[in-house]
Amino acid sequence: MSLTRQEQLRAWDHAHVWHPFTPQVEWSESDPLVIDRGEGVYLYDTEGRRYLDGVGSLWCNVHGHRHPKLDQALIDQIGKVAHSTLLGVTHAPAIDLARKLVELAPEGLTRVFYSDDGATAVEVALKMAFQYWRQKSEPEPGRNYFLAFGGAYHGDTLGDVSLGGVDRFHTMFEPLLFPTVLRAASPYCYRCPLGLTRPSCATACLDEVDRLLEAHRGQVAAVIVEPLVQGAAGMIVHPAGYLAGLRDLTRRHGTFLIADEVAVGFGKTGSLFASNKEGVTPDFLCLAKGLTGGYLPLAATLTTEEVYSAFYGTAAAGKTFYHGHTFAGNPLGAAVALASLQVFEDEQTIERLGPKIDRLASKLATLADLPYVGDIRQQGLIAGIELVEDKSTRRSFPWESQVGARVCRAARKFGLLIRPLGDVIVIMPPLAIEADELDWMIDVITTCLREVLMPEVEVGS
Ligand code: PMP
Repeated sequence: MSLTRQEQLRAWDHAHVWHPFTPQVEWSESDPLVIDRGEGVYLYDTEGRRYLDGVGSLWCNVHGHRHPKLDQALIDQIGKVAHSTLLGVTHAPAIDLARKLVELAPEGLTRVFYSDDGATAVEVALKMAFQYWRQKSEPEPGRNYFLAFGGAYHGDTLGDVSLGGVDRFHTMFEPLLFPTVLRAASPYCYRCPLGLTRPSCATACLDEVDRLLEAHRGQVAAVIVEPLVQGAAGMIVHPAGYLAGLRDLTRRHGTFLIADEVAVGFGKTGSLFASNKEGVTPDFLCLAKGLTGGYLPLAATLTTEEVYSAFYGTAAAGKTFYHGHTFAGNPLGAAVALASLQVFEDEQTIERLGPKIDRLASKLATLADLPYVGDIRQQGLIAGIELVEDKSTRRSFPWESQVGARVCRAARKFGLLIRPLGDVIVIMPPLAIEADELDWMIDVITTCLREVLMPEVEVGS
């Protein structure tokens, strides 16, 4: 009996494709959703069914799929060259993009080092910071530590995993990780690690950073943070002023601040860069995901003249940064990134976000009284809905119950594609989403929460 094309694809997927972050038994027993094409904020499967891309194809899509200007930029660039290296030669898309990024980024970030993914953008920042202290004019070779936060996620390469604070992902690899990481509590206000509450806490979690930097004076190469929102930890929205507080502390202690804006950059928080929101210029700014509008893998690590100057030397001086990825600054990626930044200007993407963010906030508020909805967190167009078994004690559901995954699976039959982080339902749509589509998303999530958690209540009631 011959299989249809769709059946064949599903069978071959199960036979050969090992999916990232995916428990394999559940996957092999599932009917894989095979995406065929996209249009605006929607994806379509091979049977023509439509799904709203509620997490922006993993937090990266910005202007929607198949945006005519982004598509055209790729067509134009592919008519010239698809790839040429930045090792020893250069090309216009990488040059123009670097100039544009420097113009748009927080003031003082004037040097752009390209790579290809979020994980590499962070690795670059770590290695640059480390090397800087060794070869600045008055070297400080004792700076071997990085300070990272509980729940931190900076990518899956081993350097980034060393900084990671998500036990389920990271603990296993401990024997392979560099041990020089100081860990400060995450500013997770719903479950404050210090047992305090806002606003009477006066952001006491910053005091711990202060103490750690003091105790390790002269030993810390950099503090690394996901500004405003810790993504993979469950969309933990930081209290206002926290990022600016970290910037003050790092300056006061004479160490670097690395802003990992891989997830939160390019408008997701309501301004082009999250750092802008608190008037912060980090020493390193890591960008990926939305850099190309979510089209292609391209990443950039921006830094200052001060950092660059420590690497400025002849081959004989031995100051070179010996790091580079084959597809760093890929011309197709750079061309589409330039087009994406142009669309931000042409369509006033950031300026038009305000009403959508407000609409999302008021719609999310309608969930607050539902049983099992423990915490609702929002920053810009990013939101996390934390589900708990007991609202009064904030007790989580047992991991095995997979409540978040079940809610997201239920949403699919209504045509909404979302992915949870544990029992946190994540919303991170393309910025191009319209307000009524945001309403619709929350309505679907409400229906699915009822269906999965309150089956005895009639759906829609
Ligand atoms: N940093 C942060 C804050 C992220 O959220 C991610 C990915 N979700 C990464 C780094 C790693 O990016 P990539 O998956 O592109 O390597």
